[in-house]
Amino acid sequence: MTTKPNYRRKRHGIYIHPLIWCLLVLAAGGSLLAWHLHRAPETPAPDGSGAAPIQSSAVSDELPGHIVTPSGIACTLTQLPENSIYTGNLILVNNWTKFHFPKNQEDSLDCILDKRTDSYYVRDSSVYLLPEALSALNDMMDAFAAESGKKSVQIVAGHRTVEYQQHLFDQSAKQNGLEHAQRYVAQPGYSEHHTGLTVDMGTMTGEFMDSAGDYRWITENCQNYGWIVRYETGKEELTGIWDEPWHFRYVGIPHATEIVRMGYCLEEYIEYLKAFPQSGSHLMIDCVSGHYEVWYAQGTGVYLPDSTPCSISGNNIDGFIVTCKTA
Ligand SMILES: [Zn+2]
Repeated sequence: MTTKPNYRRKRHGIYIHPLIWCLLVLAAGGSLLAWHLHRAPETPAPDGSGAAPIQSSAVSDELPGHIVTPSGIACTLTQLPENSIYTGNLILVNNWTKFHFPKNQEDSLDCILDKRTDSYYVRDSSVYLLPEALSALNDMMDAFAAESGKKSVQIVAGHRTVEYQQHLFDQSAKQNGLEHAQRYVAQPGYSEHHTGLTVDMGTMTGEFMDSAGDYRWITENCQNYGWIVRYETGKEELTGIWDEPWHFRYVGIPHATEIVRMGYCLEEYIEYLKAFPQSGSHLMIDCVSGHYEVWYAQGTGVYLPDSTPCSISGNNIDGFIVTCKTA
């Protein structure tokens, strides 16, 4: 939909927030675009919702304790806690996949107003994000301001608590009826805004951002800063949300780059990654921040690099994605 919604009429609101789980964080750096998939798999048919039961592949006898990946990374089989599946930059949250709220989530969030650069604005001091996403937002908005000379973007929404999502839902139901609310407002617990990895962008004149005109640069370049346009035309059946050019989701630069290259929504991408199991061919991504090797582990037995920097994210469904910087 490309109407000019006012800020009260949010229809979704998903925001997941990565539980605290800290495995390695990958250094990102550089700036150079262009990434290639060295090993293109057959694209799996994504249905976006298929949730397989979590396999407690408890460091079993069936898997060797150590492997060397296709690009030569020595890894050791490691048992991760099951609840880690619900945390990380790649968790999928939608109308069918609920967010698992971590304890004390608010402790890990940063106030945008306190930490933003002067390249953009934020509605008020109540808008929060996870630190990694906020840092990436600063980078993107600095680049946009430098490129366009404009500092007119206003962040109008970020993290939402379950209580606030309930408030939005109740408010919509009261004003427009329950049916309308059920159609346009995410149920509490199912909004991507819970994650702390999502922002809604608006303008200083009170409109949501459009993908055309002055802000087209953001839509076209956001992947180089780790962001994707989460809800696009043509993907409604998969995402459950109509076109929302103002809603951006942080997933990190390599995955944002691959998502855009493949033309996928996040639902499709999470399925696509399953074509790169840890015991098989891995996904190779070249992007502005470097070269990466990526693999998917179903269950909680995951091969982690012995020394190579990597980041690990659950998919919020049935396993983990390991993203390793190789160059
Ligand atoms: Zn949104």
